Amino acid sequence: MDLSKKIREVQDFPKEGINFKDITTLLQDKDAFQYMVNKLAQELEDLEIDIVVGPESRGFLVGAPVAYKIGAGFVPVRKPGKLPHETMRYEYQLEYGSDVLEIHKDAIQPGQKVAILDDLLATGGTVLATAKLIEALGGEVVSINFLIELAFLKGRDVLKSYHVKTLVSYD
Ligand code: AMP
Repeated sequence: MDLSKKIREVQDFPKEGINFKDITTLLQDKDAFQYMVNKLAQELEDLEIDIVVGPESRGFLVGAPVAYKIGAGFVPVRKPGKLPHETMRYEYQLEYGSDVLEIHKDAIQPGQKVAILDDLLATGGTVLATAKLIEALGGEVVSINFLIELAFLKGRDVLKSYHVKTLVSYD
């Protein structure tokens, strides 16, 4: 199945100049949703993943069903102030200003094998911050998997020390 046909493109959202990749059209299609989950799960076969981590918020939509499918646990990484228990935080730089992500301190045990799943690789900043949080807790990031890659933004360069796979790439 060509998943790119299921992804809607919305021009100038959320601001001018952005070509937004809308995955709601893929998720609402039962065959496409199942195909996506199975494909992502296939890529993680044989890696003995303990935990799938998904960054807020579309990482939840992609990560949780894949975690279920491969028999792994799911851990959310969230914007500050959303997780109720003790958290570890990581601040990272954006083009203008900075952003913060948090994870529960007890979410990952040292030595656990972790896969990060998200909907889209743009600059790679979000997922790099997510990897740093996992590593700070002693987890091993064995794979990073996306549905979509915006190849022209070169997010792979930022993630070059990791194993990165994507299903749909845009040049
Ligand atoms: P980044 O940290 O730059 O790799 O991007 C972080 C997140 O921003 C991605 O996981 C997407 O959810 C979202 N994002 C960035 N660019 C787009 C886009 N063109 N269309 C849809 N989502 C995007």
